[in-house]
Amino acid sequence: MTPDEIQQNLITASHMIDMDDIVREGFSTLREVASDVTFPLSDEDILLGEKMLQFLHHSQDPVMSEKLGLRGGVGLAANQLGLLKKVIAVLIPNEPEFDEEDNEIAPKEAYKMREIMYNAKVISHSVQDAAVEGGEGCLSVDREVPGYVVRHARVTVEYINKDGEKKKIRLKDFPAICVQHEIDHTNGIMFYDHINMNDPWEIKDGMLVVK
Ligand SMILES: [Zn+2]
Repeated sequence: MTPDEIQQNLITASHMIDMDDIVREGFSTLREVASDVTFPLSDEDILLGEKMLQFLHHSQDPVMSEKLGLRGGVGLAANQLGLLKKVIAVLIPNEPEFDEEDNEIAPKEAYKMREIMYNAKVISHSVQDAAVEGGEGCLSVDREVPGYVVRHARVTVEYINKDGEKKKIRLKDFPAICVQHEIDHTNGIMFYDHINMNDPWEIKDGMLVVK
């Protein structure tokens, strides 16, 4: 399929993105730099972003993820769908809260971050590094690659949202890690490129371990 055919298929109203749409290690677009999308956004690029975010919602929903056979995910980049466009979707749920009797209750805000980002890039970052405890996974990688994925602890990210507004946000902790993982995809970089293969669980001076 050509990229245009791939995109048309993905944004068809009846189509729900599933694991068959996600390309895996070895597929060329995972190692290529995506192009910026143009503004005003085309209807196709708006729908693509919405479908990608819908996929993340489905992947985190127990009923839909089982029905569609999805692995859970918090982020997706268009490169993972075989498209070289700088489009990413991020959906990070908040932790559950607890009432006075220690019963688990739904958090007031369901999501820590829920965003479709076009042309996202890191414009500045902390000197301090950070890595997620336990390492990272990826919907395009069907194997575990153990080790700390060393990233920036805090980043400032510039992007354009689905309404065409230019945004500049500062991120730390897990959202900073997740957005760096997705922006990396748009630049052909895989998470394991950041693992020190000689000493995967090395904690360099000052590196923050994110729970
Ligand atoms: Zn990934």
